[in-house]
Order: sequence, then C-alpha cells, then structure tokens
Amino acid sequence: MSNVLSTPILLQIRKIVFDKFNDTSLRFTNDEIFEILKTLDMTKSLAIDDMKPFFNKLHQDGFLRPIAQNFTTQWFKLFGEVEKTNCNSCNNEIHIGKLEERICPSCKISI
Ligand SMILES: [Zn+2]
Repeated sequence: MSNVLSTPILLQIRKIVFDKFNDTSLRFTNDEIFEILKTLDMTKSLAIDDMKPFFNKLHQDGFLRPIAQNFTTQWFKLFGEVEKTNCNSCNNEIHIGKLEERICPSCKISI
C-alpha cells in the first residue's frame, strides 16, 4: 500500500460514516469503519495501520475529529451532520459535513 491518499478510499469512508454513523452525538472507531471498508474490492490490501492518514485528512477537512485513543483504536465524532449530494462537476455522489467548506471531496471544485 502506498502512502498516497487515495481519493476513492476517502470517498468510501465518508459514505460509510453517512450510512452508519451520521449522528453528531455518536462515537465511532477506526476499527468499525475499517471492518466495513475492507469488504470492498479496492481496499483488500489495506491494513488498520494504513488508515491513520485518511482519518488525519478527514480531520483537517473538518469532517470528523478524534476524541480518544487506546492503542490502535481511535474514537471519532462528527463536527456536523453529513449530507449526501451530487457534484455537478464530476457527477459523483458525495458526502459532506454541514460545517465543512463546500468543496467537492472528489474533484475539489466549489459546490
Ligand atoms: Zn466533484
């Protein structure tokens, strides 16, 4: 697995959070996301240790924030509720937090 942040994986993490953990009062873990993520073809070679840069990026973007850590398990909460929308530019279905900058996480165009 390279260290390059894969946009398709970031988009999948956003989708998983939207589908399963879209509640600002919920706590969820990197392990819970990883369990779902690794059922997809694109992430078969991914290890839990590879996940950290993805969560760091989602924190920088204002999507989620780390609230606790115990060994390799990290707990997160959302900054704001996540909305599903369609990007008119790249035509992807995207999931974006209400408090995030309105930039498409796929093509980086303002939405
Ligand atoms: Zn887009």
